[in-house]
Amino acid sequence: MAEQILLVEDEEKLARMVELELHYEGYAVTKAFDGRSGLEKALSGAFDLILLDIMLPGLSGMEVLRRIRKESQIPIIMLTARDTVMDKVAGLNSGADDYITKPFAIEELLARIRAALRKQNAPAVTEEILTAGPLTLNVSRHQVLVGESEVELTRREFDLLRYLLANKGRVISRESLLDHVWGYDFVGETNAVDVYISFLRSKLDDPFHIKLIHTVRGVGYVIKED
Ligand code: CA
Repeated sequence: MAEQILLVEDEEKLARMVELELHYEGYAVTKAFDGRSGLEKALSGAFDLILLDIMLPGLSGMEVLRRIRKESQIPIIMLTARDTVMDKVAGLNSGADDYITKPFAIEELLARIRAALRKQNAPAVTEEILTAGPLTLNVSRHQVLVGESEVELTRREFDLLRYLLANKGRVISRESLLDHVWGYDFVGETNAVDVYISFLRSKLDDPFHIKLIHTVRGVGYVIKED
């Protein structure tokens, strides 16, 4: 389905020209010629992106922007005839994603539109990184480093290390590790935790001559920076 663009621009000739170009690129375009109707359409939720002129009759583009932002995080590119730093700063502070100064080359506008839509559609990647001393665990990359060296871990070893690191400095009981890493329905050897801790030590502590995983006798395990 074509992406829907709302164009709020009172200069009808310019609006018509932009509309034709956007149609040609495969976008669906709806036009509004003043601030009030632009705001009304913008809040309908029917659009993927808004091109918003700053100088508009009725309600200024800045005011339209401010009111849209109370309701929606839709990408907005401001169109401004006045190439002044104040406008740009004010626009971006009020929540515009980008701005373009008139007169603009249509290719530049298209590039800004593509960039704004790409940003909007990109999945939010949160890189969770856990560390202890020289050890770094990157959750989304499923990667473990000691210093610069990558360490290969099985999924269970990784999950166990991740849980201990997330609770760095806290002693975690075997029962708690079984619950959180193996799951409540774990059935099997109760010394599984001890076995996997020894796997981790043989891959992390021993080869790198560090001591991160400590045993607290009768209680459980804790990762401490040495
Ligand atoms: Ca205008």
